[in-house]
Amino acid sequence: MHSFVILMYHMISEPKTAAEVKYACSQKRFEQHLQMLLCAGFKPVSIKAIEEYFSTQTPLPDQAFLITLDDGFEDNYSNAFPILQRYQIPAVIYLATGLVGKSNQWMCASTFSERKMLSWTQIKDMANHDIDFGSHTISHPKLTELDDNSVSKELVESKKIIEDQLSMECKHFAYPYGLLTEKTRDLVQYAGFKTACSTRSGFNNVERDPLVLHRIEVYGDDSNWKLKQKIRFGMNDASIFFPLKYYSSRLLARIG
Ligand SMILES: [Zn+2]
Repeated sequence: MHSFVILMYHMISEPKTAAEVKYACSQKRFEQHLQMLLCAGFKPVSIKAIEEYFSTQTPLPDQAFLITLDDGFEDNYSNAFPILQRYQIPAVIYLATGLVGKSNQWMCASTFSERKMLSWTQIKDMANHDIDFGSHTISHPKLTELDDNSVSKELVESKKIIEDQLSMECKHFAYPYGLLTEKTRDLVQYAGFKTACSTRSGFNNVERDPLVLHRIEVYGDDSNWKLKQKIRFGMNDASIFFPLKYYSSRLLARIG
């Protein structure tokens, strides 16, 4: 059965604090990742292609991958967008609409630096050049800690703001912090979203719930080799010892 991977990035810039190393991937490394994926035969696809894969069974190419960028940092425009354009790689950016044009106020100020978020002018420019936009709520809350009405408000209102600004339907969503319950998932469906990304690791295929898609989290300091391992095993933690463990457990499974 064909499977595809969704890669999750956040900031595309140099980390400024130790905590940011995981979430901030330098522009140079981001480009190296993309070059490696293309050289290894991976085929970039858009979130639209993935939606059609689930809704109309339109096949995806072998080794398909999607680039996702969470939160809507300003560096997605200044650092990621030129590279994505150069290699003609589509991507989807998930926006917390209440933070557009502001700063990353939801992040802990003692461990993360202050970062600018995208403006609507930048978002509209990218939307005209093959970048898709999804909702990541209004205020980036933990949806599992809100009552149903508040969850629905975060979903429906952020969707409408994106639709009004970009004059197109907003069908895609990403759960802040990857937090969801079955109820949250149903509210996302009820709000009218067709796909939703979690932070659960692993591959996706036709049997996956399109409203709980799995992703591979790319860390800012992942080497090309490490990223390749993560994609190969569909895991965020593909340490140097992992392949050994994987093969020995398969061997044991065969013996046992
Ligand atoms: Zn987020």
